[in-house]
Amino acid sequence: MSRYLGSVCKLCRREREKLFLKGERCSSNCTLDKKRGKNGPGQHGAAKSKMSDYGKHLREKQKARRVYNLTEEQFVHYYEVAEKMKGSTGDNLFKLLEMRLDNVVFRLGLAVSKKMARQIVNHGNILVNDKKIDVPRYQVKIGDVITVPEKYKTSDGINNLLEKTAPNIPAWLSFDKNKVAGTVVSEPLAGEVSHPINSQLIVEYYSK
Ligand code: SF4
Repeated sequence: MSRYLGSVCKLCRREREKLFLKGERCSSNCTLDKKRGKNGPGQHGAAKSKMSDYGKHLREKQKARRVYNLTEEQFVHYYEVAEKMKGSTGDNLFKLLEMRLDNVVFRLGLAVSKKMARQIVNHGNILVNDKKIDVPRYQVKIGDVITVPEKYKTSDGINNLLEKTAPNIPAWLSFDKNKVAGTVVSEPLAGEVSHPINSQLIVEYYSK
């Protein structure tokens, strides 16, 4: 299945929830906020049909896929890897997703959205342990240091970004603003994911 290239706001409307797919801009200029007041979110207001159990499981899986900007094939791959790991499949799944390099770049505040984070990685503007890594799916490890090339450190783009954004950096990452360098200090815990998602519903969706 190919990657979705349409309006990301449409994806939030589909899930009837703010997924923050435009990053910072979602806090101040979201169409769902405007519609939520009187009619509730969604193109057709508050009219809610009763969702089947299957529908609830499907929607949670789709929500996770959209938050991490993955195709169905990519998401299934992560699920299969998570299933083979020790421990809870749901926790493993979100650990793998959170520790993707593009997600880490976003969570460190080096990009305004996950989409932009992926582009920055693709364009070779991210270093891991001083080595250029241009693969968004790259899995970071504890102790990895994520930074940007010297020429990028002094660019207006990155400085404006660091001034304007106040990223909510999770406890499993640390960030040195002066050095423009982030460090992976631990693996993310179950409650430290980018967006509240019920992993159990996803596990049940794929277990049927
Ligand atoms: Fe659009 Fe962001 Fe609002 Fe989603 S949360 S509808 S992406 S502005």
